[in-house]
Amino acid sequence: MSAMVKLRGVHKSFGALHVLRGVDLDVRQGQVLVILGPSGSGKSTLLRTINHLEKVDRGSVHVDGQLLGYRQAGDRLYELPEREVLRQRTQIGFVFQSFNLFPHLTVRQNLMEAPLSAQRRPRAEVAPLAERLLARVGLADKADAYPRTLSGGQQQRVAIARALALEPKLLLFDEPTSALDPELVGEVLDVIKDLARGGTTMIVVTHEIGFAREVADTVAFMDAGRIVELGPPSQLLDAPAHERTRTFLSKVL
Ligand code: ADP
Ligand code: MG
Repeated sequence: MSAMVKLRGVHKSFGALHVLRGVDLDVRQGQVLVILGPSGSGKSTLLRTINHLEKVDRGSVHVDGQLLGYRQAGDRLYELPEREVLRQRTQIGFVFQSFNLFPHLTVRQNLMEAPLSAQRRPRAEVAPLAERLLARVGLADKADAYPRTLSGGQQQRVAIARALALEPKLLLFDEPTSALDPELVGEVLDVIKDLARGGTTMIVVTHEIGFAREVADTVAFMDAGRIVELGPPSQLLDAPAHERTRTFLSKVL
């Protein structure tokens, strides 16, 4: 299978804070990668570099064979214009911890906004797509509701449907259930599991070890800006090679 995501030697600092310290990563098409790691280890920053929300200081990020943010001509790199960066970004869905729905738009309008305005697709095509996606996340009856009238779990399912409306090649999830009451976590994880089974390539940052065990093809443990180790769930979760991974798992399990 072909590489969907390829990072090589990625470094990122914020001022004096060296957050990503040389990350190499490969995610194949259809693969589900779960990233674990303590708070502050650089997980969100890593996801944001894959969506080009953060520019890397050093190294490269390829998504589906395209170098993010740059055009290569011979051995020179040229920064892409903002319009091209946005086009690349629409191919990558991002689901945040905090849902980030447009509060003044209905659920249906939330789903249709980006396909209509960013992708300039015809309404006649986008409207049925929105209905299909809402049905897929179990919210067909909420199309006309406003986000504030929904539970956190419902809002996050809308956010997932909205990401899918762009028909992305890749989905990134940044702690998608961390802001939810415990009884609402399951309904969101079930939607993500369903997508995983359907062959969507995804990278999921989460502390849900049970989810990682069940759904991930590969689990990575990140600490202090590096991927410390990476392997199939059975290996990383049950027989981690590194002391730091063992210490972290003993705290979250
Ligand atoms: P994680 O998601 O693993 O908790 P983050 O990637 O959010 O870690 O953050 C890693 C470190 O980088 C933290 O110390 C955080 O405060 C810092 N950081 C993240 N984004 C910024 C930013 N835009 N400006 C300054 N510091 C940042
Ligand atoms: Mg984070």
